[in-house]
Amino acid sequence: MAREAVLKNSLLGEKDTEFDSNLRPQRLADVIGQQDVLERLQIVIDAAKKRGEPLGHVLFDGPPGLGKTTLALCLPREMDSALQITSGAVLKAPKDLIPYLTNAEERSVLFIDEIHRMPKAVEEYLYTAMEDFRIDIILGEGVNARTHNLTLKPFTLVGATTRAGMLSGPLRDRFQVREHLRFYELEELTRIVLRSARKLEVAIDDASAELIASRSRGTPRVANNRLRWLRDFATSRHNGRIDTTIAQEGLEMAGIDGLGLDEQDRNYLRTLIRVFQGGPAGIEAIAHTMNASVDTLTDEVEPFLLRSELVVRTPRGRVATALAYRHLEIDPPLESLL
Ligand code: ADP
Repeated sequence: MAREAVLKNSLLGEKDTEFDSNLRPQRLADVIGQQDVLERLQIVIDAAKKRGEPLGHVLFDGPPGLGKTTLALCLPREMDSALQITSGAVLKAPKDLIPYLTNAEERSVLFIDEIHRMPKAVEEYLYTAMEDFRIDIILGEGVNARTHNLTLKPFTLVGATTRAGMLSGPLRDRFQVREHLRFYELEELTRIVLRSARKLEVAIDDASAELIASRSRGTPRVANNRLRWLRDFATSRHNGRIDTTIAQEGLEMAGIDGLGLDEQDRNYLRTLIRVFQGGPAGIEAIAHTMNASVDTLTDEVEPFLLRSELVVRTPRGRVATALAYRHLEIDPPLESLL
C-alpha cells in the first residue's frame, strides 16, 4: 500500500466528494479505457522501478472529469511511494511551493491539480526543482538576506490541466511524459457505469447502463453523476431498480436530452443561434450574454460540443453547425441552405 496523502485534504475541491473517491479506480489495472495511455504509463513505471529511480515528471491534460486525477493518484500506489497533493490555484507565490518541495521524499509524487493556474513566478521556480532537484531560498531580510541553494530529494511532479496551452513552453518541456486524455467510447463508458453501479449496489441491466453512457458526454464523471441521480430517482419513484424506462424518465426529468446535453449546453447553442445568428461569435460575448464565465464555457461546455460537431471554432469566433440547428429543431437561416 502506498503511504498516501501526506497532505491530502480538501485541496481537490468539490469534485473529490466521498462519492467520487468511492468510485475512483485505485490501481491502473482498474482503470477502464484510455488503453494507449495506460500502456505507456505501465512502461515508464516498470522501467523506473527496475532502475530504482523516480518516475519522470508526468503531465495529464484534457477536459474535466476524464480521469486526470484518477491516473495521478494511481501513480504513487504503483510506485509504492508517498503522495502530496496541492492545486495551482493555491500556489500564489514561490514560497507556497517550498514546503511541498522540501517535504518531498525520495521517489514520492507531488501532484499539482490545475497546474495552469500557477502564476509565472511559481512556474519559473519549478524549473530547477524539476530539472536538477534543487531550489534557491532566501533567508533573512534586507542587507542580511542570503540566498541558499537547497538540494531536494529526487521526486516526481505530476501535473493535471484542462489547458495545456496555458503552460509556458519551458515548463511543458520539463515533463518527460505528457498524456492527453480523450473522451470515452460508448462501450468504455458503459463498462464504467456497470462498475460504478456494482460499487453503489444499485441493480441495473446492460441496456440501461448503455443508455446512461450514451447520455454522458463521453465523460466518466458525468456518467457517475447521472447514475447517482437515477439511483435516487429509482429509489424514490420506483423499487430502486434501474431499467430503461426508468432511466429514460429520470434523464428527461433532469433535462438531459438524447445527445446527453444538459440545460447549460443547450443554452449555449440557443444563445449562439438566436442572439448571434449562428455566429461567428467571440467566446467573451457568448459568456457575457449567458451570464456564465468564459472558463466554464471553454472547459466544461465547449469541448463536447466541438467534438460532437455542433459547434466549430473559426478565427472569427464560434459558429453553430447545421447539426446544432437540427438538434434544437430551429430552422437554419436561408443562406446556409443555398
Ligand atoms: P479529472 O481529474 O480529469 O477532472 P477525475 O480523475 O477526478 O477527472 O475523474 C472523475 C471521476 O470519474 C472519478 O472519481 C472516477 O470515479 C471516474 N473515472 C474517471 N476516469 C475513469 C476511468 N478511466 N475508469 C473508471 N472511472 C473513471
